[in-house]
Amino acid sequence: MNELKVGILGCGKMGRVYADCFSRNPHTRVTAFYNRTYSRAEALAAEYEGSQAMRTWQEITEDADLDIIGICTPSHEHLEQMSSAIEAGKHVMCEKPMARNAEECRRMCKVASASSVKVAVGFQMRFHPVIRKVDELLPRIGTLFHIDFVFGMNRPEVTWRHKSLQGGGVLKELGMSPEECSTFERILGMPHGIVLVTGPTGSGKTTTLYAALSRINDVERKIITIEDPVEYHLRGINQIQVSTKSGLVFSRGLRSILRHDPDVILIGEIRDRETADIAVQASLTGHLVFSTLHTNDAPGALTRLVDMGIEPYLVASSLEAVLAQRLVRLICPHCREEVEPADRPALEQEFAADVPDVLYRGRGCRECQGTGYRGRAGIFEMMLITDEIRALILEHASAGEIRRSATERGMKSLRQDGWRHVAQGKTTIEEVLRVTKDERLNGNGAGSSFRKAAD
Ligand SMILES: [Zn+2]
Repeated sequence: MNELKVGILGCGKMGRVYADCFSRNPHTRVTAFYNRTYSRAEALAAEYEGSQAMRTWQEITEDADLDIIGICTPSHEHLEQMSSAIEAGKHVMCEKPMARNAEECRRMCKVASASSVKVAVGFQMRFHPVIRKVDELLPRIGTLFHIDFVFGMNRPEVTWRHKSLQGGGVLKELGMSPEECSTFERILGMPHGIVLVTGPTGSGKTTTLYAALSRINDVERKIITIEDPVEYHLRGINQIQVSTKSGLVFSRGLRSILRHDPDVILIGEIRDRETADIAVQASLTGHLVFSTLHTNDAPGALTRLVDMGIEPYLVASSLEAVLAQRLVRLICPHCREEVEPADRPALEQEFAADVPDVLYRGRGCRECQGTGYRGRAGIFEMMLITDEIRALILEHASAGEIRRSATERGMKSLRQDGWRHVAQGKTTIEEVLRVTKDERLNGNGAGSSFRKAAD
């Protein structure tokens, strides 16, 4: 992952907050400061290694080397700086604009919304909890997605948008093993079929799908997404936002999408029979369809679709792969320490793996706010729909039976996959157990995940 370079406009109190946030992040580095009073920029630049003070703000907004521009305490005077940075294709981070009147506020919002890239936030310095929030979210910049701050016009809360970074390699940043990554890439190369990502809310499903789309986003393939809401903006991809309120529901939107005959369709979520039906039809008529489903594990997705009313033969013929996932927190690199594994035999049984002599944990430090964790990575259960599994679907097999068959053919459970990060010293056993606590419930118990998912 490339380091993202940051330029900061404004070197007051807020400039320091920005510089601190960005320099604590392992993926971003502050390299340039500008302040109307040059000596203040110089003073701040002296504190951050590898950075320098600039004489004009254009040297920052127009510097091709910089990826992110932080504009501190922006006012109407900074509108030009903001526009310039946006035009130069930068990601812009700033606080609530202090527009003098509604007209100016509208103008700033217009500048922000006109760009397909980035922009601006509504947080105010005196709301410390919000600053903390920004700080928490910053580590995600440069790991996968750029955070796109959007003006909060009337509401005090911050609206977060994410933006994928351009260029390849994002798929590799998700936390997959090299084998998983190459299997997933093979799936992405399929001409048609349905690929589902499952997991509870906040398990990183959308992130994975967008990394997948970025990977296959080329001029040859026409990609259309239909989402509620559009969470990430991708260049070159036609994204349609549906709103159940306005009456443009998923299924209707999907029908109109199919008339444009795209090669790849991303459906934000399959939440009802109608959407599932259209996904199946689309895949059977030669489209590659990505979507998400709320089930705990991969086998549960099959039974869930049948439960929604899709004929098993249609599930069997359209589905190509299911990826269940969770996010585990990673050990803070600043306070990582060795720990001897306790109760080795129990661990070896739990994870079906050899336990190394030394494991790690985060002691807790200032960098990680005492939590011992910093950053997150995905763990995956990747199920390919093989002929054996298709046969099981046709036989109305339970999720448990499907799981057993997939496991026999080498599918790793979420917990087993999580062990990979433990063995590499990247996360802790407690963390893997925490995010996979449902797994024991499913275990090998026939059909239990099916009933759970059908709730
Ligand atoms: Zn720490």
